[in-house]
Amino acid sequence: MLIKKHLLECVLIVLFGLKNYTVISHAMAAAPATSIHGPSAPPANMFDTVPGYEGTIAGGGGGYLPPPPPSVPMPEQAPSSPNWHIPSISEDQARDSFAMYVSSKCCYSSDPVKEGVITSMESFNTYRYRLETFMESRSTEWSQKPYTGQPVDAGVQPAPGPWQIAAQPPAFFQEHKQTIKVPYTSSVKNCHVCLGMGRNPCTTCAGAGNKVCWVCNGSGYRQSDDRCMHCNGRGRENCSSCSGSGTRQCDTCHGKRQLLDFINHILKWSTEKDEFIAQDSSGLRVENLGKVSGKELFKDAQYMVYPVRGFPDVSVGQASERLVRDHQVKYAQTSLILQQRQTIELIPITKVNYMWKGKPYVYYVYGNEFKVNADDYPATCCCSVM
Ligand SMILES: [Zn+2]
Ligand SMILES: [Zn+2]
Ligand SMILES: [Zn+2]
Repeated sequence: MLIKKHLLECVLIVLFGLKNYTVISHAMAAAPATSIHGPSAPPANMFDTVPGYEGTIAGGGGGYLPPPPPSVPMPEQAPSSPNWHIPSISEDQARDSFAMYVSSKCCYSSDPVKEGVITSMESFNTYRYRLETFMESRSTEWSQKPYTGQPVDAGVQPAPGPWQIAAQPPAFFQEHKQTIKVPYTSSVKNCHVCLGMGRNPCTTCAGAGNKVCWVCNGSGYRQSDDRCMHCNGRGRENCSSCSGSGTRQCDTCHGKRQLLDFINHILKWSTEKDEFIAQDSSGLRVENLGKVSGKELFKDAQYMVYPVRGFPDVSVGQASERLVRDHQVKYAQTSLILQQRQTIELIPITKVNYMWKGKPYVYYVYGNEFKVNADDYPATCCCSVM
């Protein structure tokens, strides 16, 4: 079956003609390690059953393993009574930010900035609540590598459970991944690709060890009826992929004939983040606020946070309650929560009303960056303003 496939490939290569053939040959010479023959995925029945690891499959995707119940008691609620200070900006600051915004738009005329008269400024501050959950998740997969005399320990002792294997987590809120070989799961199997031979038929020459000469295309002669110098008139040349032997070392077992089967433990540390921005009545669209930073009013980091209570804006407290519960439901089933962090930021918004040429207009200055939004700017094309 395997040989038949190689033959077909070889025939196709010859049919493709000289040019294509040369390209293929070069590509193969450049990447000899790439497996080019038959399916190399191990058959499912190749792996033993290891108690505690029954659902494990090769190549991952076996699903995450539920963690044991938390051993650390829930923390006491941290009392918090932040000093709510609502900052506001000056008229000069508003005008400067506005001028910078307008000069950043190539077509905007600066006339409304210079001639416009500010009639009123209103502060509309809003809040951003953010919850981050840092957790560890573990999954397993069957793996294989060429057998080179490694210890074979399957069944010597029961394999430790997935969450019994010790690991060194990174600092909180740092992404990290680690692979650990599970002890007492290693066994030796004949290589399924080469059937324990250590070599496979060469796909370039279909096992023949030689192939049609690319210079004379197999005739043995060049156009001028001279003997082909490249193949000495044989019409065939040695296959460079297998050095004429017709076989190549098996890529799966690296010629070792046997494979070590074992279970790999994949540990992943990651942070999930959710945000809520409180609705305000300024008229500035909430999407604008995602791009700016605010002043941090409140920060709380511990093993598991309690929802924020007593915050002046009720919707922030509600969002905190909802997101803390969501994270518990979503992540505690599949992962071990190691740390949570919640923050509340104040995002300043100043609404500036001004008059220009007898008509009222508005712009907003918001965020720590004094970002400006002016959707109704009256002179968006310098050529139309006279
Ligand atoms: Zn060959
Ligand atoms: Zn030739
Ligand atoms: Zn092999």
